[in-house]
Amino acid sequence: MNPTCFTCGEPTNTVLYFSGNGQWLVACLMAFDIHPDQATVMVSKLLECDPDAVFDYADHEDFSLFCCGGCAAKAKFRPPVPPGTPGHVIAQKTSG
Ligand SMILES: [Zn+2]
Repeated sequence: MNPTCFTCGEPTNTVLYFSGNGQWLVACLMAFDIHPDQATVMVSKLLECDPDAVFDYADHEDFSLFCCGGCAAKAKFRPPVPPGTPGHVIAQKTSG
């Protein structure tokens, strides 16, 4: 089965890299016009925790999501890269 873009569902062979805590990851998905409730459920599956626990999830997680170039551009993120290729990480800024 070919991978598909996590937001538009079209086949894609590129990924975006994310790094941050639960709240940050939900905010990232909301940049793709995903409803907050749906984004929270998606992140809970990625983190393998309960949706209610996503916002309490303080640990930084690194993961990649398949995403096409069009959706990344719409969300104003840098272009995705083929899996396994070093690329720009959409990382949470540390406060302070
Ligand atoms: Zn897409």
